[in-house]
Amino acid sequence: MAATMNRIFRPTSSSPSLFNQLIKIRPLSTTATITTSSSHPRTDPKPRNVQWVFLGCPGVGKGTYASRLCSLLGVPHIATGDLVREELASTGPLSTQLAEIVNQGKLVSDEIIISLLSKRLEAGESKGESGFILDGFPRTIRQAEILEEVTDIDLVVNLKLREDVLLEKCLGRRICNQCGKGFNVASINAEEKNGLPAMSMAPLLPPPNCASKLITRSDDTELVVKERLRVYNEKSQPVEDFYRSRGKLMEFDLPGGIPESWPKLLDALNLDDQEHKQSAAA
Ligand code: ADP
Repeated sequence: MAATMNRIFRPTSSSPSLFNQLIKIRPLSTTATITTSSSHPRTDPKPRNVQWVFLGCPGVGKGTYASRLCSLLGVPHIATGDLVREELASTGPLSTQLAEIVNQGKLVSDEIIISLLSKRLEAGESKGESGFILDGFPRTIRQAEILEEVTDIDLVVNLKLREDVLLEKCLGRRICNQCGKGFNVASINAEEKNGLPAMSMAPLLPPPNCASKLITRSDDTELVVKERLRVYNEKSQPVEDFYRSRGKLMEFDLPGGIPESWPKLLDALNLDDQEHKQSAAA
């Protein structure tokens, strides 16, 4: 392991190492310092912006909740899945290679993901960004170890939802190919099963001007979603234990759709006040 890390991180004369690039993740801003209640397993609040990670299975809603929190807290939402899709949509040399991996439901290599993330962080740094919520990274123990080396993560939110609902949610996912917003056409009514509570989720339908421009992600097919769930259990679930053992993991069982879950999530994060302040200022 050490040898591989050295190979990846050792600076070369022609290009700075990934490690050095990823070090740019360490912001020092003092804006929007967040304190969560003492019952949460996190380190003491520090005088800088939030540095959080969102974990969770495909379809759980990491993107939805992470991006809402980012708007609330004024920090960038950095989703490695989006970085991969941007690269896929480009005509860059990686595009074909990535399409094959993503459409099989497999993970992209740690090297490629770290390189995409480094580029994103570098661009953010030049715009004066500070703090972040990472969504979809880290997804392997190795990625988690690398992140731990270069920065202090304050809190890791682990979103949870029953697996049959995850599949339905992925299959109902749609994106407007013009504005990029995500919607969900699935109307979920899962019955109580094996001790799991019944759950309903209303669809998140697009406004009329997006309705005719909806597309489905090529990896949101039943076969590929099932493979992504399998890969999550194999490669990403250990990341939950990684953070649990460091006292940084906050488990959050989603009680339903956005109207039920959002206020509970804010409450769990001790952010209800933040939302009230923002609504009052609006
Ligand atoms: P999901 O809905 O499965 O959480 P994402 O949008 O986060 O999907 O990611 C889409 C795809 O991009 C993944 O299936 C994987 O191939 C790739 N990907 C995203 N983040 C990572 C990562 N941290 N490590 C490896 N591959 C990644």
